[in-house]
Amino acid sequence: MEHPENNEEYKGLTVNSGVEQPAIVNPYLRRGRFARRQLSASDYVEGIVKGNVTILGQAVTLVESTSPAHQAIAQEVIERCLPYSGKSIRVGISGVPGAGKSTSIDEFGIHVLERTGGKLAVLAIDPSSEKTKGSILGDKTRMEKLSVHPDSFIRPSPSAGSLGGVARKTRETIILCEAAGFDKIFVETVGVGQSETACHSMVDFFLVIQLAGTGDELQGIKRGIMEMADGIVINKCDGDNVDACHLAARQFQNALHLFPMPESGWLPRVLCYSGFYGLGIKEVWDMIYEYVDFVKANGYFEHRRAEQAKYWMYESINEQLRNSFYNHPTIASLLPAAERSVLDGQKTSFVAAKNLLETYLRIIQA
Ligand code: GDP
Repeated sequence: MEHPENNEEYKGLTVNSGVEQPAIVNPYLRRGRFARRQLSASDYVEGIVKGNVTILGQAVTLVESTSPAHQAIAQEVIERCLPYSGKSIRVGISGVPGAGKSTSIDEFGIHVLERTGGKLAVLAIDPSSEKTKGSILGDKTRMEKLSVHPDSFIRPSPSAGSLGGVARKTRETIILCEAAGFDKIFVETVGVGQSETACHSMVDFFLVIQLAGTGDELQGIKRGIMEMADGIVINKCDGDNVDACHLAARQFQNALHLFPMPESGWLPRVLCYSGFYGLGIKEVWDMIYEYVDFVKANGYFEHRRAEQAKYWMYESINEQLRNSFYNHPTIASLLPAAERSVLDGQKTSFVAAKNLLETYLRIIQA
């Protein structure tokens, strides 16, 4: 018999019924007299708005669930949390593995909590976790100080689904966290692939962590990243590495001048710091707060958020269309043969795709 804690229906959907629980000798007893009550959407919303992090965590589990029943409640909860959301500063933090993201986020997090009070949520977008079925980013053990801080909420990247799905869940989690009173949101992402675009499209400030290397780091950096960055920070500016970091910073700053002025009117800056030794952290956050004041004054802050909402509407349409197509039983049954015919060279990819899409359109129009 399956242990109740492993049951998808049980996980994240239950709360103490209010009856004083005895020490649990046999966990199956919970299903009997001490059975937990399933939360309604109203229970979730009420708990979240009151800032109850246990209920917030359970609601995030619901958002991440692939079960249609869970999704239905999750969407209602998100909808009802929307009026309470939006009042945070959202900062995206990107960098290749080893750039020092977790070390830096730990320092950044403690800095902003000490500087402005409030509450901080650290979320992540890590599509690579799909492969290992375990998310790496946002893992609490990577952020020693924040993980024990009473005003922080750290949530690893949702691991199931496509990048679009993973990113959507992170975005929805932002809404829930904001409704729960989190006024600072960090979204961590790996500095590879499309995950940065997804992260950029849900934050107010996109911070790119770079390392100084052999002097040719500019060749390795993708053009897209330079265009997305609101600030570039060179980490590990300590010990023997200080000169190399300052040189890299000058090169990045010069390169940034070659790009057109961003729509925000803000010329991205380049700063050096050391996450490990806690050097230059204040300056990084001075820059971010200065940016926020600047774009709030010129109207770009609201404009960017509105554009992001539009972007996510289209992303959501794309995701739902894709799911509806691939999850349709007829299409699912036809796909292996179609794939084989393409592999065997009997059909071109285009024709195979066209046949499947025509079949799908015929079914849904019937
Ligand atoms: P992540 O993979 O981007 O999250 O990187 P980590 O935060 O795990 O850091 C990777 C390695 O770089 C670890 O061994 C850190 O101790 C080290 N590191 C991180 N920040 C600094 C720094 O500011 N200076 C130095 N010298 N090492 C650092």
